[in-house]
Amino acid sequence: MKPEFGAQARQPISVLHGVGPAIAGKLHDRGIDTLQDLWLQLPIAFEDRTQIITLDALQLGQTAQVEVRVAAVERGFRFRPMLKVTVQDESLRQLSLRFFHYSSSQASQFLVGRLLRCYGQVRLGVNSFEMVHPSYRFITEDQAGICRDRLDPVYSNIDGIGAATLGKLVRQSLRHLPPEADLELIPEALLQDSGLPGFGAALTAIHEPLPGTTLAELRTGRHPAMQRLALEELLAHHLSLRKQRLAVKAKAARRIDPPASSLEPFLAGLPYRLTAAQQRVIDDIRGDLRSGQPMLRLVQGDVGSGKTVVAALAALSTIRAGGQAALMAPTELLAEQHARTFMDWFAPLGIDTVFLAGKQTAAVRRQNLQRIADGAGMVIGTHALMQDHVQYRQLDLVMVDEQHRFGVDQRLSLRDKGESEAHSPHQLILTATPIPRTLAMSAYADLDVSVIDELPPGRTPVQTVALANSRRDEVIAHIRDYCGQGNQIYWVCTLIDESEDIQAQSAQAAFELIAASLPGIEVALLHSKVPPAEKSRIMREFKDNHIQVLVATTVIEVGVDVPNASVMVIENAERLGLAQLHQLRGRVGRGSTASHCLLMYQSPLSAMARERIDVMRQTDNGFLIAEKDLELRGPGELLGTRQTGDTGYRIADLSRDAGLLPEMLLLAERLMHGYPEQSDLLVARWIGGAARFAHA
Ligand code: ADP
Ligand code: MG
Repeated sequence: MKPEFGAQARQPISVLHGVGPAIAGKLHDRGIDTLQDLWLQLPIAFEDRTQIITLDALQLGQTAQVEVRVAAVERGFRFRPMLKVTVQDESLRQLSLRFFHYSSSQASQFLVGRLLRCYGQVRLGVNSFEMVHPSYRFITEDQAGICRDRLDPVYSNIDGIGAATLGKLVRQSLRHLPPEADLELIPEALLQDSGLPGFGAALTAIHEPLPGTTLAELRTGRHPAMQRLALEELLAHHLSLRKQRLAVKAKAARRIDPPASSLEPFLAGLPYRLTAAQQRVIDDIRGDLRSGQPMLRLVQGDVGSGKTVVAALAALSTIRAGGQAALMAPTELLAEQHARTFMDWFAPLGIDTVFLAGKQTAAVRRQNLQRIADGAGMVIGTHALMQDHVQYRQLDLVMVDEQHRFGVDQRLSLRDKGESEAHSPHQLILTATPIPRTLAMSAYADLDVSVIDELPPGRTPVQTVALANSRRDEVIAHIRDYCGQGNQIYWVCTLIDESEDIQAQSAQAAFELIAASLPGIEVALLHSKVPPAEKSRIMREFKDNHIQVLVATTVIEVGVDVPNASVMVIENAERLGLAQLHQLRGRVGRGSTASHCLLMYQSPLSAMARERIDVMRQTDNGFLIAEKDLELRGPGELLGTRQTGDTGYRIADLSRDAGLLPEMLLLAERLMHGYPEQSDLLVARWIGGAARFAHA
């Protein structure tokens, strides 16, 4: 590659007209410094102004362009200022345009008879269809009927820079696109069979779609230019993870290799023998720990496969070798349960186990921090464990439970703790989500993967039935019998997308009904508003079977382990995704009693909801369920990005573009080995600026 390769791409944005220090500063804050950064500000949507729809052909919900004349103008101040412009076209139908923010000069432009072009979504108004805040433009008589010949890209807003301005800058930056030979980072020999366009051609086709390009092609990602850019982006992310892995692996880690006999007292104290799968995974981990390189391992194991004890053995090895181990859980409820389990296990072995909770008093917290600084062997908590003021004496092992609940960023930020220039702690990530292989290879390209592919023996499969919510009374009557036989029950109230307050209220109502219907049976209520001390008391009493029915929101979704609980009732199950249903159901079927899961639903069921419920009835194989979930919902759910609503990609979409992954993996392999310089440039191209922004 020539030394000046990419010089054009690296030119500062200040070479563009209209980019002074103020705009450059705002763009810089978003990680946009070079022309290339602007090229990669890809449109977030496209608008179709290639046709004019007549008002009699408009359909509700449609986003359409109309060409109309002003028929009447009304300004009202009922509750807030409002401008209503009635327009009509030659079909003589009418449409209302409504504006809630407008200047009076803007309002005065709407003169009866004036011709304008509007673009917006069709909604149902009072007497006719309406568009609220459509985009519009007055046109002259000789412009009438002449449409654009291509789709319009829509750009995002950047603080202080409107979408239109950004679009103009992007278009200007494209005038500086060098020839393909100065742009292309994927060697021709590697791409030749794909039939995909070059990088520059793909960029142009996305920013300035050719006439004839359809919205559908772009939305579904089938357009070759989209495929090309998505492929390159997936490749860049994969290469970046692989490089991070190499960087971590290049550091030293403490060699941890205590004699097997030091683990024996712990194993002897367990009421069961490890499964072959658990044993295999522990062997993998012990191999990593003694290697002298930092472990980077993901343990995948379905709900109930017994990951906790595997984590305990990793911790014990570390502690016996004189180091500290930290276990991070996604919820305080789960962290506390782990803390109790580990204290039970480790106290008899003389190991100090610290539970660091958010809501502890200052005095307790100070004490805990002191114990950690003094070298307490085992430390458990939520992500608070990784905060700056928590000082470890010798943190050698960092473990993350239920990683799918944390974002990828959080996982990567973990590495900083206990890491120095030369040293890195060992890392163990536990996840219950059996991610399909190709997806795992791209999302976890930095990790080695071990799978616990076997459940402990003696489990009876959970019987799953679906029932309409209207049969709630029957279900409650059954519960009485179940509890009479010594069983325990979870009753989960679900209301997703509602505020925590409303969730808590609905759980409260269910709790009151159930408690009133079941005299003599202990019923308790758990939701996010219950004070922490009360939460711990309830969980303890449920574990000890002093409480028989636990009414809860989805707070109990991850990790909760009460083997005697054998019935899981989920109200409004149709509102939950497969991954969540599977996690919830995994709370039962942990003991040897026959277990049941009742999925209650509100009829009528949508086709999608029915399909999910059918999947749940047909299988308890987490792997199949995950594949189905990926198909139905996309990877955000599987990879834990739902909360942030951001998968970190500009154009790629792991479920839509899953078909590209095998080719991407092949390319990655070849680039890593044959074209290191190109790999670096690819990562810099796609992630360089964005990474600076993420850490700003
Ligand atoms: P996971 O975290 O993988 O969902 P847990 O670690 O909570 O699962 O274990 C689930 C249940 O299985 C716990 O009650 C645990 O005591 C039990 N268990 C774990 N390993 C074994 C085993 N080898 N044999 C029998 N029971 C086991
Ligand atoms: Mg667990």
